[in-house]
Amino acid sequence: MPNQNLQDSLLNNSFDIVIIGGGMVGASLAAGFAQQNKSVLVIERARPDNDWLSQPPLRVSAVNRYSETWLQSVGCWNDIDKADKCQFNRLATWEKGTDKVEFSAEELQESHLGHLIRNEALQLACYSALEKNDSDKVSFMYGGQIDQVQNNTNNVIITGRTKDDKAFTVNTLLLVGADGANSKVRQLAKIGVTGWDYQQACFSITIKTNFATQDITWQEFQPSGPKAFLPLNDGFASLIWYDSKSTISALKGLSDQALKQAIIETFPELPGDFDIIQHASFPLTRRQANQYNNGRIVLVGDAAHTINPLAGQGVNLGYKDNATLLSLMQDSDLKDFDRLVKSLKRYTIKRKADSLLMSGVMDGFYHLFSNDKAPLKKARGVMLSLANHFSFAKKSVIKKALGF
Ligand SMILES: Cc1cc2nc3c(=O)[nH]c(=O)nc-3n(C[C@H](O)[C@H](O)[C@H](O)COP(=O)(O)OP(=O)(O)OC[C@H]3O[C@@H](n4cnc5c(N)ncnc54)[C@H](O)[C@@H]3O)c2cc1C
Repeated sequence: MPNQNLQDSLLNNSFDIVIIGGGMVGASLAAGFAQQNKSVLVIERARPDNDWLSQPPLRVSAVNRYSETWLQSVGCWNDIDKADKCQFNRLATWEKGTDKVEFSAEELQESHLGHLIRNEALQLACYSALEKNDSDKVSFMYGGQIDQVQNNTNNVIITGRTKDDKAFTVNTLLLVGADGANSKVRQLAKIGVTGWDYQQACFSITIKTNFATQDITWQEFQPSGPKAFLPLNDGFASLIWYDSKSTISALKGLSDQALKQAIIETFPELPGDFDIIQHASFPLTRRQANQYNNGRIVLVGDAAHTINPLAGQGVNLGYKDNATLLSLMQDSDLKDFDRLVKSLKRYTIKRKADSLLMSGVMDGFYHLFSNDKAPLKKARGVMLSLANHFSFAKKSVIKKALGF
């Protein structure tokens, strides 16, 4: 069993790695470092709770094949309960009023295209893997807060307060910020961000359906924003409604009955009846940390980058960050400052290029599809029709997006 919240024994302790944020990205990174026999402390705001899974799903991620393989390699895949991961074999996208472009696992000669997984299940599977495997290599501190970091050449000194308001100080050779979009680590490391908020917002609605679980996920582009369907097990599904902030705000105020009617009028026809279970709205932001490292501090996941979720790539980018960082740290002597910084710079260059490319592609889709201007309408019509007719291009694009 890993050390669970041993707060007193952590005061004035040293670890090879300290990870702030044990979300889907940070917790799986801890599993990877534990495999490398490094001592790790994860400081996480809230302890994940198994009871979360008895609630209906709300936040769901499309996890691509690359991420699946990587999560398997660090032991965080098998503990995701079958009921919490819904395999999809087909993916369709189209502009309202035009032909569908559909991709299938069969035509790509693959067993499946990916899985839709509720975020809590993914995070809990990482904790379960950590508990099973690397014994005393990983420690946790829950509910504490960090106040300051000293980014020295021989270590990073982190000071903060535990949940019980005791002051603590820990030393580490590498501090990882995996603490999400509003990263405190990024701020304490004095790493700036560039980015903007999109005009659109996103409304995620969990429905319980009376039809069998679908093996297809789809997205219809409309001038007001995409409308997407993500199947989940047990008759649940997630509908994602992108629209102007004012429309999303109005939708939030509707009764379940009125919201259901709005869905029927706005979404493509669903295969059967459904009930509204719950919903939440999310702002859409694009952020890029100006660097992903500074001295002995490095950022992963949303702490480094947030992108428009319209093609469900955010957490998948985070897993690529993890895989790159782990491979660069595999044989690295963390004590050697110059070599460590060289490796972290390589990490930044590699990962920033990839995430900027993905953000750019998402923005291209966002601007191309979220309007009704005639020339753009023509351009996207041509693009989708080409995608439908040139199977080689179609296969290449989808393989890249799905992480094969
Ligand atoms: C509507 C929507 C739909 C999305 N759909 C997809 C999708 O289909 N596929 C996909 O790949 N991505 C998707 N994403 C993106 C994905 O959710 C994020 O990329 C992912 O959650 C990032 O994981 P993370 O672990 O880096 O950050 P987070 O999930 O934000 O986790 C950060 C963790 O750090 C902890 N924390 C924060 N601050 C502190 C602190 N100071 N001290 C200690 N702990 C702290 C938090 O409690 C949390 O556990 C979507 C995003 C949105 C908004």
